[in-house]
Amino acid sequence: MRFLITGAAGFLGSALANQLARDGHSVRGLDDLSTGNPEALLPEVHLTRGDINDRPRLWTLLQDIDCVYHLAARVSVPESMLYPREYNTVNVGGTVTLMEAIRDVGVRRVVFISSGAVYGEQGTQPLTEDASPNPQSPYAVSKLSAEYYVRTIGMLWNIETVVLRVFNAYGPGQHIPPVHAPVIPLFLRQALNNGTLVIHGDGTQTRDYVYVDDVVTAMVAAATAREANQKIINVGSGVETSIRELVRLVIATTGGNPEVIYNPRNEGGVRRMCASLRLAEAILGYRPTTSLKEGLRLTLEKYIRVGVK
Ligand code: NAD
Repeated sequence: MRFLITGAAGFLGSALANQLARDGHSVRGLDDLSTGNPEALLPEVHLTRGDINDRPRLWTLLQDIDCVYHLAARVSVPESMLYPREYNTVNVGGTVTLMEAIRDVGVRRVVFISSGAVYGEQGTQPLTEDASPNPQSPYAVSKLSAEYYVRTIGMLWNIETVVLRVFNAYGPGQHIPPVHAPVIPLFLRQALNNGTLVIHGDGTQTRDYVYVDDVVTAMVAAATAREANQKIINVGSGVETSIRELVRLVIATTGGNPEVIYNPRNEGGVRRMCASLRLAEAILGYRPTTSLKEGLRLTLEKYIRVGVK
């Protein structure tokens, strides 16, 4: 098949692009390289540097494409609180621009990578896709509103659409920005260097951490799954892990001796997050295979190889 991946040089985009290329597919990528790293991509992946809001460029890149994966986005929850307009422009505006270009050119299917963040605080766990979204940051609002645009424009113009709500993905290749770093790479680096692990709130809040290879498996399946059209599907590990437990696992995996401190002034976000995988299994045949313990080990191995500081 012929694929276009937006955000192809990013953490999840590059893992997906390389897998599709290894499977013998033709893969084009678009990325503005604001955070992406083109060196993460195999030479078989044809990357174009450009912005998701550049419609003429999208028209060109979409020629003869069977399926588009849309991952290009600004991805930091705390950053989105400071710059909501930017998140609206890239995550919402960029999605509308892409869907309009897809409508103009004609593509069979779009797979949109949304986020478990759209659920926000919920009374019932694990989270099923029919829960009423309760976004709690401009990032989550932008992903939810992009979901609606993808589904609605797809419905109006007969474009198949699949929305995957990915939970907390981690693994080798996830970059560590100087501010607002995701928790797993941040904790691994701090523990490796015997630095400080800061736990916001009391550390009992839970998240669903899913290894990058499992996310890739689900994304690959979404391109061809028969019953997936118009569906919203969770992609997680199905396992709920508290921050305290994550800290324990990180310390055990690294063998480091970091200082662990609590920051009670920050509540640490949503209390609980755990994905129900019932729909993912039924529609995508998805069953995650990498435990958090094993995933941390694999991620650490890579960090040590490349000498993460
Ligand atoms: P990432 O930052 O590594 O990837 C995003 C990519 O989009 C980057 O390569 C960046 O350069 C590119 N990009 C940003 N703005 C762009 C623009 N205006 N035009 C073109 N390209 C642009 O982050 P990631 O973790 O790989 O996330 C990929 C997608 O998955 C995002 O849509 C994110 O919302 C979603 N997601 C990620 C997670 C996670 O835990 N990593 C969880 C849920 C959803």
